[in-house]
Amino acid sequence: MILRVCLGRAADALRQLDDSIMPLRCVFCGTRSDRFEGRICSGCCRDLPWIANACARCAEPLAVCLPPGVYCAACQSRVSPIHATVAPLLYEFPVDAGLKALKFGRRLHYAPAFGELLAAEMPRLAADIDALLPVPLHWRRQAFRGFNQALELCRPLARNCDLPIMTGVARRRATPFQSGLAAVQRRQNLRKAFFVRKTHGFRHVLIVDDVVTTGETTRQLGIALIRRGVEKVSVLAVARAA
Ligand SMILES: [Zn+2]
Ligand SMILES: [Zn+2]
Repeated sequence: MILRVCLGRAADALRQLDDSIMPLRCVFCGTRSDRFEGRICSGCCRDLPWIANACARCAEPLAVCLPPGVYCAACQSRVSPIHATVAPLLYEFPVDAGLKALKFGRRLHYAPAFGELLAAEMPRLAADIDALLPVPLHWRRQAFRGFNQALELCRPLARNCDLPIMTGVARRRATPFQSGLAAVQRRQNLRKAFFVRKTHGFRHVLIVDDVVTTGETTRQLGIALIRRGVEKVSVLAVARAA
């Protein structure tokens, strides 16, 4: 425990030193930004494709703002294991390009930038969240990629919000890439895709991912968590595909 605290402090000190030697540059436009402005400059931040109105349960973008407790038509017609979803941005340029660069181009500097953006969204979620869970990759895909982008997004978020990152959850099967598949195929591919070894007694787990497309991945992960005794599951993602 003491070693963990010391290592954490050493990492913070190194980060501060790095920031003072190498001032931050905006990940989108490259402008050297003020240390306190963050990794996305205020101009780029303003121009991002923010979602004005969305369903509070699945984050589906909506034309109008629904009152609290009212959800989109799809959420009203099915039982969901997900308590709430926040995904502030549309999955379109430059967010899609940034997330693809992170995931497939190993541009890992996008992770703290998007992680800071996620941390700013935390007040929109319930205060009783007690752990973060990055959507696990199958071990083969993780070995091939060398990292899990959801875990990379979780790290700055965990530091910012002082929440633990949950371990003990694995992807049982290497599901094929989901993009371009119909909702029914996604559901079939993902059924029982996750295996929860232990929940560490966490009661409200926040699943963290880069992009929510149909919500099927987080739904299946939510089902697996609730089966093992987690009481509530919420979702936080950078972007929502419309
Ligand atoms: Zn910028
Ligand atoms: Zn919905």
